[in-house]
Order: sequence, then C-alpha cells, then structure tokens
Amino acid sequence: MIPFSPPRIDDKIIAEVTAALKSGWITTGPRTKQFEKDITAYCGCQTTVAVNSWTMGMQVLLHWWGIGEGDEVIIPAYTYCASANVIFHAGAKIVMVDINKEDFNLNIEKVRAAITPRTKAIMAVDIGGLPADYEELMALINEEQIKAQFSANNDKQNQLGRILLLSDSAHSFGAIYKDKRSGSLADISSFSFHAVKNLTTAEGGALCFNLPEGFNHDEIYADMCTKILHGQNKDALAKTKKGNWKYDVIEPGFKCNMTDLQAAIGLVELGRYQENLDRRKAIFHQYEAAFSQEEWANNPIFETENKTSSYHLYLLRINLISEEQRDEIIQEIFEQDVSVNVHFQPLTMLTAYKNLGYKMEDYPEAYNSFANEISLPVYFDLSDEDVKTVISAVKKAVFKVMKNEK
Ligand SMILES: *Cc1c(COP(=O)(O)O)cnc(C)c1O
Repeated sequence: MIPFSPPRIDDKIIAEVTAALKSGWITTGPRTKQFEKDITAYCGCQTTVAVNSWTMGMQVLLHWWGIGEGDEVIIPAYTYCASANVIFHAGAKIVMVDINKEDFNLNIEKVRAAITPRTKAIMAVDIGGLPADYEELMALINEEQIKAQFSANNDKQNQLGRILLLSDSAHSFGAIYKDKRSGSLADISSFSFHAVKNLTTAEGGALCFNLPEGFNHDEIYADMCTKILHGQNKDALAKTKKGNWKYDVIEPGFKCNMTDLQAAIGLVELGRYQENLDRRKAIFHQYEAAFSQEEWANNPIFETENKTSSYHLYLLRINLISEEQRDEIIQEIFEQDVSVNVHFQPLTMLTAYKNLGYKMEDYPEAYNSFANEISLPVYFDLSDEDVKTVISAVKKAVFKVMKNEK
C-alpha cells in the first residue's frame, strides 16, 4: 500500500531526539529557542513563538489581539475545521466567504463584500501550499473607506488602525510570494508542524509576527511566551538559574509551549528542508506532466509569476464528474493499494457548522472544488516508481468509472 503522507523519521531524527532526551532538558529550552530563531531567519519575519499546535497558537493569538464577542473574523469556507474552531472559541462570529474557482484560495471580492465595522481580522488560508493574494488583501484593508469604518477595541488594535491580516500557513512553510517566504506575508502567520505537514515536529506549530513598524517585536515575543505558559513571567529554564526560583503569574494564561523533544525533530527537518521541497516539487511536476495529457484532468496551480507553492498537497480535480463519481474513483484507487484523500470537505458540510446555520448553497465554488477533488500522495520518501504507480492507479480508476457511466 502506498501511504498518503508518512513522516520522514530516519536515524538523523532519532539521534537528535535521543540527544535531547539525554541532555537532561526535555521541555521548552535551548532547542526550542534555537528552532524559533531558525524559523525567523528562514521566513524573514520579525519574531517567532513555537507552540504545541497551529490551533493553540492561533487560539492564544486571537485572545492576545482582543478578539471576542461582537467581533467578526473572515475565513474561506474551504479550509480545515481548525481555522473556524478557534474563532468560535474566541466567542467571535465566523464569517465564511467563497473561494476562487482556479486556485482554492479566498476570493478578494467576496472578502470585500463580507467586511463590516465589526470585522477585526481576515484569515487567509494557503490551501495546498499556494500563498493567498496577500498584496491584494493588504491593499483592500488599507482602503480609506474600509479603514474609516474599522473600530478598535484596545490599544493594539488602535495602533494598527485597520483589520488584522492573518495567515493560516499550515500548508505553506517554504512557499514564496513575490520574493518573500510564507511567515512574512501577513501581519501574523501560523504554521502547523503536525505529523502530516511538510515540516513536522510530531505535533507543533509556530506563530510568526511581522507587524508594521512601531510594534515592538521583542515585547511581543516576551508577552506571548508568558501567555503560552500559564501567564508565568519566568519559564522553567529561567527558573533553573541560580537563586532564580521566584516567579509571578501576571495574568491567567494558557498552556501550549513547544517541548525540546519536538524542537529536536524540527531542527533536523528545517536543516534539510530544501531537499524536502525539491523532492516535492519533482513529484508535482511528474503528476502535472502525466495528467496534462488527459482532457478529464484539471491540475492545481502551484507555480505562477508571483507565487511558488510549498508543494504540500497535489489537489487534482476531475472535470465533469459528480461527487458520487469522485467517491467511486477514490474507491477504485484504494483497490489498487494507493492512498488518496480529499482536501477539504467545505466547513458547511460538517455537522458542527450546519448546526450553526451555515449553508453549502452560499458557497458554490467551495462545493465545486470539493466535489471533484482528489489529493494525491506527496512526500520525500515517495519514489519515482511509486509516483508512476499512483498515476496509473488514478488513470485506471477514472477510465473504469467513466466507462461504467456510458
Ligand atoms: C493542519 C491544519 C491546521 C491545524 O493544525 P494543528 O497543528 O493540527 O492544530 C489548521 N489549518 C489548516 C488549513 C490545516 O491543514
């Protein structure tokens, strides 16, 4: 069976995790601090805070920015549930918008139409690893009329003076938009290092801050480190310094710091990340070359004049088929011992959001993109031979299902 996206765990990773275990320091410590610095340098942002998941990082962030009841946050209807869940738990209103037909990302005109005086943030999602249209989004929230209707709830929001631009960069570590890397494209970006993501720490995440001039990123870093550790003004490492036992809790905080065991994996992953990207890129090109000969295939966009994907998910769409036919094709692919997936079921198809009153018919492009989509395996250890097996399994499955229809 060809799996969908196994993590790359080899002797190098095992050696580094073992070294962390033997170092006597297993929770947040030197490896986590190094990992944060390396991410900041790689992404070109101002500062980075490592956390235990995308979700908890974003949850704390929304709290830190003062988003809550009466506020609205705009997200695409086509994303993973985490993007919406954190807004729900913040107590704010989830405002879903439809996506572009071509690239699965949030549609600028739909965002414009969804903005109200209560809009506090827009969270773009880089689906599959292709960056959203950040320059256009930034221009939109800086439009005079839109800025004029923005109402700040606190000092930070007042200092920014406009809607906050967030990036759900769970898929896009290493992606490029106009010569800048993901992590530095929005005001604040959140990465996921979950086991299936491009770069993994088993579970984990990072918040990358890139707020405009005037924001003190050293203060933000210190503030966030307190927030993710119970509100304690000293972490465990600082407390081990001679005589430095006394600490204070300056606010009721959260608990979602990254451990040095996770950071050990992350440091190895980041150190060899380019070869990971290169392999993924080669696989994308093999898929594209194979399917561009088929009139039924609609290949995803992953390289444009301004954007280079992180090659996270190969989102193949099959023209002119129904959702039921797509499901049959997936079944046929599995029969040939190849694992595929669907990214994503639009939020409106999930019980939690249906129960909140969101309706699929309000997001037709999200439905169309989902109904005929199949995500193909992409990972470092996938061999050329495996790629050929996947391609032939997909082709056979499509022909079989299409023939049965005639
Ligand atoms: C994986 C994922 C997340 C959540 O990441 P966690 O680290 O599991 O919290 C959020 N958004 C998107 C688009 C994802 O794919």
